[in-house]
Amino acid sequence: MSMMEIVKEQMIKHGVKDLKRLKVRVGELTAVEPEALQFCFEVYVKGTPMEGAALEIEEAPLMGRCVDCDEEFRMEYFLQACPRCEGGAVTKTTGHELDIVSMEAE
Ligand SMILES: [Zn+2]
Repeated sequence: MSMMEIVKEQMIKHGVKDLKRLKVRVGELTAVEPEALQFCFEVYVKGTPMEGAALEIEEAPLMGRCVDCDEEFRMEYFLQACPRCEGGAVTKTTGHELDIVSMEAE
């Protein structure tokens, strides 16, 4: 699902018509370029009641949690081993989300 589809769905859900500000969190692993997202957003809102709304993008780093020792750490690359115990069983905790943090409307 594209970002704008999520936004649209949320707006309908919350009955938002006149969007003023939108804050989203984009994970490192989503491969979504903030500039591209910004551009898409501007194109999308043009000519709609949302035109002129501000988009704020927060980038979420890739974080992992070790299954063995429960260490949570910043991953430099995908499937990195645990820095504490060198265990390879790591679960991704953040980095792949595409969330709407907040929505401001009048
Ligand atoms: Zn570990």
